[in-house]
Amino acid sequence: DSKRRVRNGWQAFTPALALAQQERLRVETQLRRAVENGEFHLVYQPQVDLHRGRIVAAEALIRWHNQHLGEMRPDRFIGHAETTGDIVRIGGWVLREACRQARAWRDAGLGVVRIAVNVSYRQFLGDDLADSVRALLQEFDLPGAALELEFTERVLIEDAPDTLRTFAELRALGVLLTIDDFGEGYSALNYLRRLPIHGLKLSQLFLEGVPHNKSDVAVCQAVSGIARSLGLGLVAEGVESEAQRQFLLQLGVPVGQGFLFAPGLPPDEFALRLEQAGTEATP
Ligand code: C2E
Ligand code: MG
Ligand code: MG
Ligand code: MG
Repeated sequence: DSKRRVRNGWQAFTPALALAQQERLRVETQLRRAVENGEFHLVYQPQVDLHRGRIVAAEALIRWHNQHLGEMRPDRFIGHAETTGDIVRIGGWVLREACRQARAWRDAGLGVVRIAVNVSYRQFLGDDLADSVRALLQEFDLPGAALELEFTERVLIEDAPDTLRTFAELRALGVLLTIDDFGEGYSALNYLRRLPIHGLKLSQLFLEGVPHNKSDVAVCQAVSGIARSLGLGLVAEGVESEAQRQFLLQLGVPVGQGFLFAPGLPPDEFALRLEQAGTEATP
């Protein structure tokens, strides 16, 4: 622990820094036992066909309720969990819970909807991700296409020796592979040719300024052009307004996700939406 703290070099002591370290210690301490204490749950945000409004998939988003810290949004703890390595266990829990939910919705005859799960770069470094996904699909009797994995460009930057093999194995299982927050990180276009991925998610960072901000519009156009010419799917995230939906339709982006349609929903509310809006047929 102390080794990790000095790795970033010497830092002047300031009250703000002390506060940040205190918060970090509190979060890290509580995180350690959060899985076994059953403190996590998932909410599901619909991904919607922008033309007809039908639900094509659900993104599973983690929520943490801790008795000392209250409700913690992922942006406040995922980074810490990645630093400590707890994310590997937490991410394993998320995958299992998403598969359990997918099975439950199928058994309830609610239509078949793919669940997208966020996967940390640390899960690519640790235990064999493809093996655990294969085992979960078997356990819950799901086809690979029931599951989509979203990962960020960080996975490619860390460039673990087995990353390409892991991607290939996941793809062979039929699992969909998507680059999340595309354009936010260090988008190196060379990996797009090498990786067996299915799609990109346009970062909401760029959608924010649409349709007023010229450079945001240009970035959205560029990303949609990249996706189209590489034959990749494209999902726009952070769709909040009708104007943004119209812009995306004109751009030819087929699928969107955002508060215009719904935030992350508890499973029963999501199921209700499924019944109302209908689904695209997914294997
Ligand atoms: P993300 O994967 O890019 O997820 C989208 C985030 O944007 C979610 O925040 C979602 O609630 C929010 N969002 C959706 N629609 C809108 C919109 O129209 N406007 C705005 N302003 N925001 C919108 P959330 O749930 O707080 O998650 C934040 C990030 O935490 C995620 O970003 C993802 O990187 C990470 N995360 C969430 N769940 C998991 C998980 O199970 N495992 C891992 N490793 N990371 C997770
Ligand atoms: Mg995501
Ligand atoms: Mg995203
Ligand atoms: Mg994001």
